Amino acid sequence: MAAANDLPRPVIFEDECKGCGRCIAACPKKVLRPADHLNRRGFVPAEYVGEGCTGCAICFYNCPEFYAIEVHTADKEGKR
Ligand code: SF4
Ligand code: SF4
Repeated sequence: MAAANDLPRPVIFEDECKGCGRCIAACPKKVLRPADHLNRRGFVPAEYVGEGCTGCAICFYNCPEFYAIEVHTADKEGKR
């Protein structure tokens, strides 16, 4: 069974996020949502609900900010 860190997941750098919601709208699994707090720039950042990500990276490709969101996936051996 894969360890939690081997599962695909989005990693959001919330102070780089401008809260546009594009990733939330684009995620086919609907596993992103607005956080319940503001970031240091005064925006509501996106956050991962914690499970259900497939690693498709559609969120990454829809984000207009260079450093706001990454998608981490395991390699073929199941390691990063
Ligand atoms: S990688 Fe795909 S499934 Fe995972 S959060 Fe991004 S859009 Fe959603
Ligand atoms: S698309 Fe990028 S900037 Fe917009 S809410 Fe998502 S992570 Fe933040």
